[in-house]
Amino acid sequence: MIAMAIALEPKLLIGDEPTTALDVTVQKQVMNLLADLQAETGMGMVLITHDLGVVADVADRAAIMYAGRIVETGQIRDVYDYPAHPYTQGLLNSIPSNVSSGKRLTPIVGSPPNLLALPTGCSFHPRCPFATEVCRTTVPPLREPVGWPPGHAAACHRTEEVLSHG
Ligand code: SF4
Repeated sequence: MIAMAIALEPKLLIGDEPTTALDVTVQKQVMNLLADLQAETGMGMVLITHDLGVVADVADRAAIMYAGRIVETGQIRDVYDYPAHPYTQGLLNSIPSNVSSGKRLTPIVGSPPNLLALPTGCSFHPRCPFATEVCRTTVPPLREPVGWPPGHAAACHRTEEVLSHG
């Protein structure tokens, strides 16, 4: 599939779950191949994945999506090292290699919402440990707080508290 896509010399390659169902070794090979092709051809690349670990080494920027909206975006190291949205923190805490040996993984409670009947306010509020009343009524804008690295933004009313907690 990758060979067929590259044969057309695209300016932009969109990889939707490019490593799903592959074992870890082949995943690494595929990601290295994509990185080499990108460097060689200069094409843009958008990778869509549920596995943050897979893209950590090859992506420049990350956009974390929940219920159809971007809830956090930034340079990949800023997002991974300083997650500023509770959903991003939950995703990172669910990766086994991020958790010390002997410690339990911390799952995100609850289930994803019905996209046809989203919760009011912040869509993540029924699952969020930081939720307050304003979260139930008002959709948080994607904002870049003063003092943050340029381009690192989160859609959360309580980003500053979340960041200090993480
Ligand atoms: S806006 Fe509120 S509910 Fe939404 S992620 Fe932030 S703290 Fe949680």
